Amino acid sequence: MLTVLDHPLAAHNLTILRDRNTNSSEFRAAARRLSYLLVSEATADMTAAEMPIDTPLEGATGYRLGKPVVLVAVFRAGLGLIDAALDLLPDARIGYAGVQRNEETAEPMEYYTKFPRMDDARVLILEPMLATGGSLEWAVSKVKEHGAVDVTAVCVVAAPVGVEMIERAHPDVRVVAGALDRDLDHHFYIRPGLGDMGDRLFGTT
Ligand code: URA
Repeated sequence: MLTVLDHPLAAHNLTILRDRNTNSSEFRAAARRLSYLLVSEATADMTAAEMPIDTPLEGATGYRLGKPVVLVAVFRAGLGLIDAALDLLPDARIGYAGVQRNEETAEPMEYYTKFPRMDDARVLILEPMLATGGSLEWAVSKVKEHGAVDVTAVCVVAAPVGVEMIERAHPDVRVVAGALDRDLDHHFYIRPGLGDMGDRLFGTT
C-alpha cells in the first residue's frame, strides 16, 4: 500500500530537494525536515501503550510506543534520513543494508548488511529513492529473512514502476513517500526526481 504525504511542508521541502541550485547543506537540512514528516506518517498507525505517570500536580495517563522500532538505512542515501528518524525515535535499533545498484542493469548488488533483532519491531526501511524497486525489494527480503514481520518503507520520491514492484512482491509492506513522480529515464533515474540523492547529500559526483 502506498501513502503519499499530503502536506504543504512536505511540498515545500521537496521543492528545495528538487531544485538543482540547492547546495549540499541546504539539501541535507531539507532532507532532515522532510524525514520528520515521513517518519511521523510511517509510525502514525502504531499503537501507544498506556502508562501511569505523575505530573507535578496529579497522577495522569501517559503513553509510549507499544513496540520497538528498527531503522534500516539502505546505503548510501538512506543514511541521510537516519538522524531525523533518531530524533523522533531515540530508542530505535539500527540496521544497515549495503546495496549498490549496477548502473547498467539497475540490479542490486549486496556488499554489507548488519541487522539488529527485528521480529518484535516496526521496521522502517529508509530507502529515499524508490526507482526500479530492485534495492527495496532486496532489502525487504533481507529483513524478512531476519525475522521482520511489520515492515514500512520510507521514501523521499517514488516512481510508479518501483511501487508496483513492491506491491507485487511484498503486498504486506507499506510504502510512505514524499512524492510519486512520473517515471524513470533510461539510466533508471526518477523523473522529474531530484537527481542522485547520495551525490547531493554527500557532495560526490
Ligand atoms: N537513486 C537516486 O539517487 N536517484 C534516482 O533518481 C534514482 C535512484
